[in-house]
Amino acid sequence: MAVTGARTIAAGQAIRTAIEGPMATPPLKPYSGPPMTPGNAAAAHVRLVVWCKDCLHQVEPDAAEMAACYGAEMTVPDWRERLVCSQCGSCNIDMVVSGSEHDPLSG
Ligand SMILES: [Zn+2]
Repeated sequence: MAVTGARTIAAGQAIRTAIEGPMATPPLKPYSGPPMTPGNAAAAHVRLVVWCKDCLHQVEPDAAEMAACYGAEMTVPDWRERLVCSQCGSCNIDMVVSGSEHDPLSG
């Protein structure tokens, strides 16, 4: 009967859900807050390093200056998307944040 088949499938799904349930939540979350903003970066005294992937021109913009220029609402990923290489005009920009050992939320 069709009912027997349906019950078998339902039982299988219940078992799979029970197994996957706890594993769906990672034990550690590295960062759960909103994306970092230049203001946060300035407060945390981290260094922002951006470079052009086309001509390898590299700069370390001042986070406090960026926050003043672009506003405290803009996030670092948004800001990176607006970057244009001042040397070759490429938008192919990459970025790292270094020295972020300090929790920006704790001051
Ligand atoms: Zn460039």
